[in-house]
Amino acid sequence: MTAGCGLPAAFVMKNNNVLIIGAGIGGLAVGIRLAAEGFRVRIVEKNELPGGWLQPTHIDNFIFPNAGSLITMPQQLETLFSNVGRSLSDYLELEEFSPIIRFLFSPEHEYTLYREAADTLMKNSLFGLSDQQGFAAYGKRSDRILDEYLPKFFSKPYKRSRNPFVPEFGFRNLRPGRSGASVSSRLFSSEELRNVHAFWSMFCGGAPSVSSHFYRMIPAVMHRWGVYLVKGGTTALVEALVRLFEECGGEIQYSSEAESIQVYNGTVTGVRLSDNSIRMADYVISDADTAFTCRYLIDSDRFRYTTVAEAQSRKPGISLFIYHMALKSAPVEKQPLLGFNIIMPSNMREWERELFKENRLPVDPLFFLHVPEKIDPSFVPEGKGSLSVICPVPNLYSEVNWPRDSYRFRDHILTILQAKFENDLRSDLIGERYITPVMLQDTYNSFQGSAWGFSPNQEKTEVPHLPNRCSDIENLYFVGNGAHPGPFLPAILQGAEIVYKDIIGTRR
Ligand SMILES: Cc1cc2nc3c(=O)[nH]c(=O)nc-3n(C[C@H](O)[C@H](O)[C@H](O)COP(=O)(O)OP(=O)(O)OC[C@H]3O[C@@H](n4cnc5c(N)ncnc54)[C@H](O)[C@@H]3O)c2cc1C
Repeated sequence: MTAGCGLPAAFVMKNNNVLIIGAGIGGLAVGIRLAAEGFRVRIVEKNELPGGWLQPTHIDNFIFPNAGSLITMPQQLETLFSNVGRSLSDYLELEEFSPIIRFLFSPEHEYTLYREAADTLMKNSLFGLSDQQGFAAYGKRSDRILDEYLPKFFSKPYKRSRNPFVPEFGFRNLRPGRSGASVSSRLFSSEELRNVHAFWSMFCGGAPSVSSHFYRMIPAVMHRWGVYLVKGGTTALVEALVRLFEECGGEIQYSSEAESIQVYNGTVTGVRLSDNSIRMADYVISDADTAFTCRYLIDSDRFRYTTVAEAQSRKPGISLFIYHMALKSAPVEKQPLLGFNIIMPSNMREWERELFKENRLPVDPLFFLHVPEKIDPSFVPEGKGSLSVICPVPNLYSEVNWPRDSYRFRDHILTILQAKFENDLRSDLIGERYITPVMLQDTYNSFQGSAWGFSPNQEKTEVPHLPNRCSDIENLYFVGNGAHPGPFLPAILQGAEIVYKDIIGTRR
């Protein structure tokens, strides 16, 4: 008889009950590690399916990825599998690809990010001589940031939640307080190149002129380790993780929503579910949005918890309007598109002001444009076409009235999109679905519909995530978007590993 992934039953421990709230990638990853170690691990998931953000949207036989398609730092996934004695390749097929992303500015101007930095430089006509030097300097400094950030911050538990960069982590010389926009405006003369190199914080919902230039690590990671797609998409990724979790002895209870985390004498005792049943646990790990967990799942009426106060003091990040279109045939492009594209607004400053300062829907929005059949032909039925728009919009603190305005905004997006295609998109539509911030809040319990957890637009050098271990409730942990080291799959896998090691450490 065995416990977990092949451990003899004699190794089954006392006080080993772990309850995880949420079957997103964070919950599944930490669940796999602990179940394989002999803990009794149960996940309660409010939705009918696992994966959280990684669940794609379906319209008839069309599949539309929502998030998590780009696999960076694949070594993080490989390590998760090898740590429990498995090989990733027995569960998943990863395929590297290049070119990776195309930015479109106008019919004449575009910028493509390739696997190799040298290709990015050579194949983009926007680079004049001085901008070539700027690109080299940008890349060199980004590599240095990455080299310091990974061992000093990303891989380590993070205990304090204010100003961790200075001086404890020694990042002072790399000046994390500078914004992406200020760095790129010094290095590049072309307006388009400035905008691209200031843009990377938007991958986590950060305003280019406010959030740290450290987000330039994103293209540095892509150039260093490549970018991969999972064959079969994020559904295949989620299925592989669920399979591994269950093989290790973990259980998932679907359509089960956690309503409150039970605490006695400063230590967690379990979780109360929405059907009022109570699941006792020695450890509770929340993969639900960290702001939501702190504000709504921890009863802070009787005790004042620092963690809750910290979460309350942080602003939620921006949200998204997601619009999926099923088309009767492949759209005819005026300007060649990749699977992943970013449509840039004509005036970035104006766009940033409307979205981040005035909290309203931008008139000329920036959006991610996916062409699903170029990501994986199996996402689209034979002979048909599809498009997905993922558009950053204000969170629910804004005055946008989504029930009233969503159809109008969908129409606005469609009009902008039409300029990129020869065929009439409206008459080719055979199915469509849009997802608003209200729906994101309802589906994933994202506080105010925020897409990436807390806002990275903090003052100075504060880090927008909470530590993985709750500082004032014993045996309560956080993984996922709002927890250290932040959103994105490699970071979430790292956060899961930190939680795992901490729990193992507390038992020795
Ligand atoms: C548009 C977009 C594109 C992205 N693209 C990429 C990409 O290409 N590559 C990449 O690496 N990263 C990407 N990311 C980031 C990445 O997808 C997310 O960071 C990650 O999927 C979040 O995982 P999670 O486990 O933290 O949370 P979630 O996926 O939100 O999972 C949390 C789970 O908890 C459940 N839950 C919530 N409350 C409760 C409750 N009370 N009781 C029970 N269950 C509950 C939810 O239903 C959900 O299933 C993208 C993010 C976005 C928004």
